[in-house]
Amino acid sequence: MKIAQRMSAMKPSATIGMKVKADELKKQGKSVLSFAVGEPDFPTPDNVIEAAKAAMDRGETKYTAGSGTTELKEAICAATQRDLGLQYSPSQVVVSNGAKHSLMNIAQVMCDPGDEVIIIAPYWVTYPEQVTFTGANPVVVETHASDDFQPDLSAVRSAVTGRTVSIILNSPSNPTGCVYEREVIEGIAEIAVEHDLAIISDEIYKHIIFDGAEHVSPATLGDEVKERTILVDGVAKTYAMTGWRIGWMIGPETFVKRAGALQEQATACPNSIAQAATVEALNGPQDSVEEMRAEFERRRDFVVERLREIPGVTCATPRGAFYAFPDISEHYGRTLGGREITGSLEMSEYLLEEALISLVPGSAFGADDYIRLSFATSMEDIDGGLSRFKAALE
Ligand SMILES: *Cc1c(COP(=O)(O)O)cnc(C)c1O
Repeated sequence: MKIAQRMSAMKPSATIGMKVKADELKKQGKSVLSFAVGEPDFPTPDNVIEAAKAAMDRGETKYTAGSGTTELKEAICAATQRDLGLQYSPSQVVVSNGAKHSLMNIAQVMCDPGDEVIIIAPYWVTYPEQVTFTGANPVVVETHASDDFQPDLSAVRSAVTGRTVSIILNSPSNPTGCVYEREVIEGIAEIAVEHDLAIISDEIYKHIIFDGAEHVSPATLGDEVKERTILVDGVAKTYAMTGWRIGWMIGPETFVKRAGALQEQATACPNSIAQAATVEALNGPQDSVEEMRAEFERRRDFVVERLREIPGVTCATPRGAFYAFPDISEHYGRTLGGREITGSLEMSEYLLEEALISLVPGSAFGADDYIRLSFATSMEDIDGGLSRFKAALE
């Protein structure tokens, strides 16, 4: 059967790939400890579950408006006002099947073949894939653990060409846990204004921040920046709702309307019950958000301390999200368990097969010197897993 040209570059998700391999070993009865998943290990809060049940009982089981219910858009605007102090109207919101879907809609509405989109590495695996799918080209700007993964503004500036249409920011970052400093966001915003670029700001981890670090959304830097910024967020990480599939974009009405039209043709609307549940997540009590955040911070401290005890491993301190991104490249070139470790993929395979711990190779995020370890798992598993990790490298 014919397969379209544009599919030729699309790779399956590396994070999901690691999960499949780990599941196979588990089926063989092996006790694999997983640090590969990118989702909170907490249950969805009860009030949200109850709201979903109530929505079903009320018969809210039919199509909604393509871009989401007015009630949910109003709740999203209120939450954005509460969290960022920004005023938006419901007509500036499109609710989608997860923030990933919002990002896909943005890429489709924004990019023509040959356009360029600046992406900061280490990047979330999905960004370059979505950009490439439109025929546009990702232009990668690297960052390093030695700078705490803060982007270098002159490197960002040098990446801009006449074809650049936008820059994607993700702070707090998956996979590094880096929270961009105010000066960095301001500098990037200045470059965007100067070169007439859109800023796509993926703020899905904005509630998971440690050490009192400041979350700066570019949209808060004045009207000139707000008008060129599209905020992307969702309930997956903040409320442990990955499976509910609700995310959104907020931005200029002319752009957002097009995304709504695209979505109507692609998927009619997001799930009606999940939308009702999301209204409760946003408007209801927020205690569970702080409880989860505090627990992630406790685990972060433990993970970083234990990683730094392993010879040849260095780790920048994650200030947000729930990932550590240690540099393990000092071990490259060694032969471990009868195999030569030439990069992060071989290291991940070695650690999975010999130490029975699953992690995601940094190569998936455009940074082969590292591996990503999610601490969205119990302290007990973190403790056991890091002991295995250490033993496997000794
Ligand atoms: C998890 C994640 C998302 C997407 O979340 P959805 O489940 O699609 O709402 C978006 N961006 C980053 C960086 C993520 O880690």
